[in-house]
Amino acid sequence: MPGFERFGTEERKELQDVLDNGVLMRYGFDGMRNGHWKAKSLEVELQKTLESKHAQLVSSGTAAVSVALASAGVGAGDEVIMPTFTFVASFEAILMLGAIPVLVDIDDTLGLDARAVEAAVTEKTKAVMVVQMCGSMANMSELQVVCDTHNLVLIEDACQAIGGTYKGKPLGSVGDLGCFSFDFVKTITCGEGGAVITNNEKYYLNADHYSDHGHDHVGNDRGAETHPFLGYNFRISELHAAVGLAQIKRLSEFIAIQKKNHTILRAALSTIPEVTFRTVPEGGEESYAFLNFFLPDLESARKTIEAFKTNGVDACWHYYDNSWHYVREWEHLKTAKSLFPLSAEIKQALNTLNTASFEQSDHYIGRNISCLIKLSWTEEEVHSRAAHMVAAIKAAL
Ligand SMILES: *Cc1c(COP(=O)(O)O)cnc(C)c1O
Repeated sequence: MPGFERFGTEERKELQDVLDNGVLMRYGFDGMRNGHWKAKSLEVELQKTLESKHAQLVSSGTAAVSVALASAGVGAGDEVIMPTFTFVASFEAILMLGAIPVLVDIDDTLGLDARAVEAAVTEKTKAVMVVQMCGSMANMSELQVVCDTHNLVLIEDACQAIGGTYKGKPLGSVGDLGCFSFDFVKTITCGEGGAVITNNEKYYLNADHYSDHGHDHVGNDRGAETHPFLGYNFRISELHAAVGLAQIKRLSEFIAIQKKNHTILRAALSTIPEVTFRTVPEGGEESYAFLNFFLPDLESARKTIEAFKTNGVDACWHYYDNSWHYVREWEHLKTAKSLFPLSAEIKQALNTLNTASFEQSDHYIGRNISCLIKLSWTEEEVHSRAAHMVAAIKAAL
């Protein structure tokens, strides 16, 4: 990660096709496009790669999460359970639909703790949003049991975990609906883009219509299409899809590089007895997009990230002190700072975050360091990096 490190002739060729015929729009203009349907072709590739019956491309990963929730009928007043450790997009997507984000603890997988989810279920709960952070996954079997018991939709945000698997299934295809991002820093990139995958025909048709103004996409005369329900515009362009079409074919190449680099760094860090690693649930295979490890306590984690900075070890984060990924620093969410009025129900729910205790999440995120695994490193760079990391951690302990 990220895929932009490896742009090559394939990406250029796909883009050139689109520029040559001039059709930047994914729907219609059949006569002009010389048979090039980049978005449609990418959807077919995604279906194959992600072993899913349907794939709907959208304009971003955040749009994918909103579209997935809307397609499953989640809306005003519905509660969606989500983890304390994720990206801000999770609650943005929920709030956009007028639904209520309910934040619960993560466990040593760095994903949703099924017991915490079970404890948070109320009569208003409609969906559980599991986020497969940093290339690995939550315990999906346990979460599936909770969802089945309470008849909840399981939405899987696999934006950071494309290429990982759980019990032989691609991540994103385990839940009822899976979401992906192809933004500029993801393993597979289009510049901006995203996708929703599902085996459920109704959810797919909902996603297809909803992401394009509610158009039904029946026939090939665009002006004659009807609107079975309200929608918005979350379309991807042919230019973006063209880049993604080249990139998706290189997924296994990228995962192999990530795995190789990850293995070298992990082996080096394993020589330090105080360093431990996140739990990968039984049957899980990471995408190796990140290496996550734990220090013994908050203080040693803070010292380690400082030592990384002074030793030139870049692309590592201590999310506990970061406002992008962890509840502790989400002041704008806790104080419900919105440009437009939010419902009293939502404001009340967000206010509970000011007094809620997420001790279990603090216990893991406070001690966790997360390092991006790049695709462009030479073997020499990986080994030198490993040596710098080990020296910095030892100095911080
Ligand atoms: C990147 C990301 C998103 C949002 O994707 P965009 O394409 O940037 O909107 C959502 N969830 C997670 C976990 C992400 O990492």
